[in-house]
Amino acid sequence: MVIEPKVRGFICTTAHPTGCKKAVEEQIAVAKSYAGKIRAGKKALIIGGSTGYGLASRIALAFGGGAATLNVMFERPAAGVRTATAGWYNTAALEERAREEGLYAKSINGDAFSAEIKERVIAAIKRDLGKVDTVVYSLAAPRRTMPDGTVYSSALKTVGDVFTDKTIDMRTGEVGEVSVTPATEEEIDATVKVMGGEDWADWIAALDNAGVLEKGALTLAYSYIGPTLTHPIYRDGSIGMAKRDLYYTAKALTKKYGVNARISVNKALVTQSSSAIPVVPLYISLLYKAMKAANVHEGCIEQMCRLFSDKLNVFDDEGQIRLDDYEMDEKIQSAVKKAWQAVRTDNLSEYADLDGYWHDFYRMFGFRADGVDYSADVDADVPIAEA
Ligand code: NAD
Repeated sequence: MVIEPKVRGFICTTAHPTGCKKAVEEQIAVAKSYAGKIRAGKKALIIGGSTGYGLASRIALAFGGGAATLNVMFERPAAGVRTATAGWYNTAALEERAREEGLYAKSINGDAFSAEIKERVIAAIKRDLGKVDTVVYSLAAPRRTMPDGTVYSSALKTVGDVFTDKTIDMRTGEVGEVSVTPATEEEIDATVKVMGGEDWADWIAALDNAGVLEKGALTLAYSYIGPTLTHPIYRDGSIGMAKRDLYYTAKALTKKYGVNARISVNKALVTQSSSAIPVVPLYISLLYKAMKAANVHEGCIEQMCRLFSDKLNVFDDEGQIRLDDYEMDEKIQSAVKKAWQAVRTDNLSEYADLDGYWHDFYRMFGFRADGVDYSADVDADVPIAEA
């Protein structure tokens, strides 16, 4: 079929297999330029490794570091007139390339929060890898279903007060105001359940119990801090409460299991998750403009290659890895702050990299890639051999 983008709100409901493959190949090329420099392990489990930071982690470890990678994801294959999700196509492309290069790369598709998927992963590790020495926890999920059927949904709200600030309608380029209402206690607790550290801890406990976790294994989860501008909605908001929980979980895991559990604070980037957060898309488009002008802009793959080559043993005062160092640089932040105050609908292009935002957005779903013939008939049904 001929596949076109269908954008609905923060999401594109179609994905293009050839375009996703191209994006994965570009990331592989970046990872390969780091060959010999990636200093992480050789057998990695990536939980949430089909898009965004998890996918880039997997590519950096596999194609930069020669690691065997097992990925857990929640993606949908093609069915009838529906295309598969981008994460499905990314994974198919990655695993095809890995096979060609003699690298082990398999996936398990299903709900990472469930005991069933944890058991399947453990069985696959026992059968194929023996043990893993690296566990990347890069889930970004809207909800979590508990064993008793209770469903917790994460909220992207403030804590305490209503927060009103600038926002942008990304479709029309109109700069306006948005008010974000505070989360209830219940919503905060639910957000911590979904995006906090409990499930990460469950994974490490299950792997350790099953004897498939290498002694002193590295385990990473990803966080975000950002400038004071976004603190009410991010760091001090309901998602921030979950990230705080993740931080304490890292400390607890290190103590309890003797693993090297770390939080890596990454840069704000356009991913399927970040586009849904109020205020953040405007911030990202101003940030892109400032970082590109200063020639320090990075995408997920550049961030993850820097993480695994240079940053694994460099910590801030709280023991966190800071990959947001270029973003938080004073010069960048002062440019973003000025832009934030000045930006209006009629001067948007002067301050915001809206084109860069949309370029990244469409590329996430395999669209707008150079050299791809989007009028060509493609087979949307791309198989993945699950572990
Ligand atoms: P993403 O949406 O691109 O990736 C999410 C991944 O989780 C996908 O592989 C998806 O298949 C998987 N997933 C979701 N629900 C699942 C489930 N129930 N079971 C199994 N797999 C599931 O998100 P991302 O932006 O790369 O976020 C990854 C992490 O990085 C998050 O912790 C996020 O907070 C953090 N982070 C993101 C940014 C940013 O700007 N995007 C910045 C710093 C930190």
